[in-house]
Amino acid sequence: MGNLFRDNLIGGIKSMFKRFVIIAMVGVFGLAGFIGSEKPAAASQVTFTSEMHGSKNLTNHGMIKYYVKADAKKYQGDIQAAANKWNHALGRRLFRPTSSLTQSRLAFTGTTQLAAGYAGMAEVNSGVIALNDRWMKRYSHQKRQAVVIHEMGHTMGTSDLYDYSDPILRRQFKRLTIMGGNYHTTMTHFDVSLAKWSLKKTHVMSNATFQGYRANQGLFYQQMIHGKL
Ligand SMILES: [Zn+2]
Repeated sequence: MGNLFRDNLIGGIKSMFKRFVIIAMVGVFGLAGFIGSEKPAAASQVTFTSEMHGSKNLTNHGMIKYYVKADAKKYQGDIQAAANKWNHALGRRLFRPTSSLTQSRLAFTGTTQLAAGYAGMAEVNSGVIALNDRWMKRYSHQKRQAVVIHEMGHTMGTSDLYDYSDPILRRQFKRLTIMGGNYHTTMTHFDVSLAKWSLKKTHVMSNATFQGYRANQGLFYQQMIHGKL
C-alpha cells in the first residue's frame, strides 16, 4: 500500500511536471542565429513521437494564408520561395499569400525586438513569424530562406528538434533536419513526413479562438505586428 501510494505520488508529480513543460513550450518557437558551413543531409529512420509536435497548427480550411507586413517586404522573395518549396514538397498549396492581415492566419514581420540569439521566432497562437533583422541582414538569400522554411514548419505544428530530449537523436536532428535547425533549403523525406504527421496530430483553431489571440494586444507578438514595440 505504501508503495502504491508512493508510485502514484511520483507518477502524479511526473505528469504535472510534464504538463508544465508542455504548456510552457506551447506557442513560441525560436531558431538560434547561426553562421557556419552547410552539411549535406542524409536519410534517417526515426519514429515520430508526441515530443515532436505542439498542440495546434495554423491551418484554416486546409490553408495557411500568410500576410507580409511592410517591415518584412525585404524578405518577400525568401518568404515566397520558402512557401513554394513547402507547397511543392507537400504536394498541395497549403501556404497562400494574402494582402489582408485580417484574412491571414500567419503574419510575417521583420524586427529588431527579438532576443539577440534568435534569427527567427514563430508564434502559433496569434500566427506570427518574426524575423530578426540583425541576423537576416547578415545572411545570404539561401540562409534567409532556410530560416523562413524552419519557422513555417512550426505553423504546421512541428516543434523544435534541436532541443529533443534524447541526446543521440538530438545530435542527428540538428545536423539532418530542418526543424533541428540545419539551415537547409531542401526538404528531405523526413522533413516532409514530419510536417504531414504534425498537421494530423495537432488541432485547427476555430475562428473565435484564433481571433481571440489576434485581438489580444497584450501579446508580445501582437504588439510587434501593430508596431507598438
Ligand atoms: Zn524553431
